Amino acid sequence: MSKSIQAIRGMHDILPERIPLWQRVEDGARQILSAYGYSEIRTPLVEVTELFKRSIGEVTDIVEKEMYSFEDRNGDSLSLRPEGTASCVRAAIEHGLLMQPQRLWYRGPMFRYERPQRGRYRQFHQIGVEVLGLAGPDIDLEIILMTARLWRVLGIGKVRLELNSLGDPEERLAYRQHLIDYLSAHADSLDDDSRRRLHSNPLRVLDTKHPESQAIVAGAPLLTEHLGETSRAHLDAICRGLEAAGIDYQINPRLVRGLDYYNRTVFEWITEELGAQGTICAGGRYDGLVEQLGGRATPAVGFALGVERLVELLELAGHASAPPLDAYLIAMGEQAQREAPLLAERLRDALPALRLQLHCGGGSFKSQFKRADKSGARHALVLGETELERGVVGVKALREEAAQQELEFEALVDYLGAPRG
Ligand code: ATP
Ligand code: MG
Repeated sequence: MSKSIQAIRGMHDILPERIPLWQRVEDGARQILSAYGYSEIRTPLVEVTELFKRSIGEVTDIVEKEMYSFEDRNGDSLSLRPEGTASCVRAAIEHGLLMQPQRLWYRGPMFRYERPQRGRYRQFHQIGVEVLGLAGPDIDLEIILMTARLWRVLGIGKVRLELNSLGDPEERLAYRQHLIDYLSAHADSLDDDSRRRLHSNPLRVLDTKHPESQAIVAGAPLLTEHLGETSRAHLDAICRGLEAAGIDYQINPRLVRGLDYYNRTVFEWITEELGAQGTICAGGRYDGLVEQLGGRATPAVGFALGVERLVELLELAGHASAPPLDAYLIAMGEQAQREAPLLAERLRDALPALRLQLHCGGGSFKSQFKRADKSGARHALVLGETELERGVVGVKALREEAAQQELEFEALVDYLGAPRG
């Protein structure tokens, strides 16, 4: 036997037994997004590398060390997308979607060359939202309320909301200098990355994962102290809206996002139940990005949630396995085996929601019945020569005590179609 090939480190198969949890997250999100009037957009998994450099920023973890970049056969530098915002904005500009406000959402795999660990993978999945063309705190509030609703629908309880404002570019610039002064005075205690970024991207240092640097950062001056009136009013309006809607939140003045393009609102939903990787959803406002990518100045706000982390939360809460099959159809004898698929099709015509599996591959009655039992189906349907002659189907309940019945087609449809608890 030749050596078997395995999946790439940090990139995982999602096996059938876990799919119900994924579908629960995906279906829940899709239903809510559609109910709020958001439209799905799908963009390629691969973009020119330049797109991510220009949007995410050169001096960020993602662009500096996490991108899957390669040269294609033309010698162009391409990258697997590490996130969805840049592609959405590119597509909106390219297709002239910016003439009116857009509420967009996307989902799919993202790729980052990170150190694989619990909750952190090299291929992971996001569901994200980008609203283009709306500037007010009302839309920021809307998307936060929408995420809160998603947690309720999914049955995710213990998750908290942190909120901050990164101010406007001028306020950040003024603050930047205070921060550089402070961090320079403590440069000796900072890790290498942070020391290097101290001048190129000091705000990013606030997001450091390095414990010693975190201790320094804890004493750093706060951007919230340098917010102008409009930025403050914007944040206040969101806070008031959250209070009115009964959503708890904390202002975390040290909350910054890893990406360069945010301004004003930033928020994260965090859980304590997943260990170190507790952020399940992160987002904020990025009013400068569209223009930075060559579009006309357009305010924008969005978020992305990590599907793996939500799936793990649901799994910890013991949620959801696949709904069982309603019926498993077995057939004995040549003629019955020819008839069985036709019977199955007629049942499917009559009951479009019926979850029916047809036995394939023949075998003895006993072995077919074993399969029926293993399938998890509620009922075995039996079609043999005698049933065929009499125009009935044998029905055996597999999950409860009940006498075996013989039903004609119409009665069978009524029986299988009847609602069950
Ligand atoms: P972190 O600071 O944890 O690296 P990030 O700022 O890189 O997070 P975002 O780019 O904002 O994360 O992504 C939004 C969400 O996507 C995260 O909150 C998380 O739930 C999920 N996510 C990000 N990176 C990964 C990953 N490598 N594996 C699994 N999920 C991820
Ligand atoms: Mg990251």
